Amino acid sequence: MSGHSVRFPEFASRVSRFTIHHLPLLKKLILKPGREKSLKRRHPWVFSGAVARVEGEPGAGETVEVRSSSGAFLAVAAYSPRSQIVARVWDWEKRAIDGAFFNECIKQAVDQRQTLLNPGATDAVRLVHAESDGLPGIVADRYASTIVLQLSSAGAEHWREAIADTLAALPGVTRVWERSDAEVRNLEGLPAATGPLRGDPQPTQITVTENGLMFRVDLEHGHKTGFYLDQRVNRQQVRAAASGRDVLDCFSYTGGFALNAAAGGARAVTAAESSADALDLARKNAELNRLPGVDWIEGDVFHLLRKFLDEGRRFDLIVLDPPKFAPTAALAAKAARGYKDINLLAFKLLRAGGLLFTFSCSGGVTADLFRKIVAGSALDAGVQAQIIGRTGPGPDHPVALNFPEGDYLKGLLCRRTE
Ligand code: SAH
Repeated sequence: MSGHSVRFPEFASRVSRFTIHHLPLLKKLILKPGREKSLKRRHPWVFSGAVARVEGEPGAGETVEVRSSSGAFLAVAAYSPRSQIVARVWDWEKRAIDGAFFNECIKQAVDQRQTLLNPGATDAVRLVHAESDGLPGIVADRYASTIVLQLSSAGAEHWREAIADTLAALPGVTRVWERSDAEVRNLEGLPAATGPLRGDPQPTQITVTENGLMFRVDLEHGHKTGFYLDQRVNRQQVRAAASGRDVLDCFSYTGGFALNAAAGGARAVTAAESSADALDLARKNAELNRLPGVDWIEGDVFHLLRKFLDEGRRFDLIVLDPPKFAPTAALAAKAARGYKDINLLAFKLLRAGGLLFTFSCSGGVTADLFRKIVAGSALDAGVQAQIIGRTGPGPDHPVALNFPEGDYLKGLLCRRTE
C-alpha cells in the first residue's frame, strides 16, 4: 500500500490489494484552473464548463482519469459526453474500474442493508442508492426475490452486464429486471431500456411485504422501479398514529399510507389518487391484507380537497405525498405554489388536534423552504399548528454528506392545535 493509503486508511477502503497494480492507461479530462475545488470536497460530478480539454477521445461511459490544470490526479470517473454532467466519479483513488469494482461496491451497499431485510415482515428495500452509495447512476431495489435495476448515466449503462451479474448472484435473488426509463436518461442521450435482464421474464406483477403488509408491485408499469420504497419508515409512523382517527391519504398510489392507516386502526380511511391503474392495485392490496372499507377516490387532489372543504368534511390525520413538483431549484417558485395550495387546504380540513404528515420529494425545494411554505399555509388557513416531527427517507436511502443533491425527500409532521 502507498504511504497515502496507510495514513488515511478510511479513504482507501475501496483500493483492494488486487487492483493497485497493472492499471490501464486511461484517457483524460483536464480541468480548467481552479475547477478542481468541488472534486477535492468529494462532490462526485464534473460539469462540462469545468473541463479545459479531453485527451484521447473516450467513448460514452468509458472510464477516464480526471486531472487538475496542473496535471494532479483527482479521480477516476465515467465519461458522459452528451450530458452537462460530463463525468461522474467512480473512485477517488487510481484503480481499475471493472467487474470486480462493481462486485465489491454493490456487495458493500447490500451488506449495509442486511438488517432491514426481515423475512416475513419486510422484503422490499433499496439496495443501491446511486451517488450516495458511491455508484452514480445506479439504483437497485429488491422486491422479494426480484431486483429492479435502474441505470441513468452513460457510465452505469456501460457496465450494465457486470452490474446485472453481481445482482443476480446475490443470495435469494432469482431475477433482475430493468427499469431504465427515468427521464434523466434523455439528458445522457440514452434511450429507455426496460424488461428482464436475468432470470424469468414472468410474472411481471409480484407481491412484496413491507412491515407485515403485502403490496402488489407492477414491474412493467409501476412508477419509478415499482414502489415508493423511500416512504417505508413514514408509513409506519402513520400506522402508529392512526388509531381512532378519520384519515385522508392524498396521492395514494397503490395505497401505501392508506393501508397502514387502516392497519393501525383508523376509524375511516379515504384515499385520493389520479391514476386508475394505481388505484386498481390499491384495491387489490386492500383485499390481500383483508383491510376492506377504504374509500378509494380517483381524481385530482387539488380539486378534491376543495370539494371536501365545500362539503364540510373534516379529518383527524391527513397525508400529503405529492409527486415531484420541482426537480431543480429553477422550478422552486412554481412548486412552492403547488405545495402552498394543498397544505393550506389540508390545514383547513383538519380538526383541532389533527395531524398533517406533509412531504416534498422535490430536489429543488430545500427543507428550509418547505418549512416556510408549510408555515405560510397554516397562517393563510387561519390555523395554529406545530411541527412535532421532521422526517426523510429510511436508512436504505442514505444521503452522502458530500452529495447534498441526494437530500430530496423531506417530511414534516404537524399538529393543528386550534
Ligand atoms: N404515497 C404514495 C406515493 C405517492 S407518489 C405511496 O406511499 O406509495 C405520487 C402519486 O400522486 C402518484 O401515484 C401519482 O399518480 C399521483 N398524482 C399525481 N398528481 C396527482 C393529482 N393532481 N391528484 C391526485 N394524484 C396525483
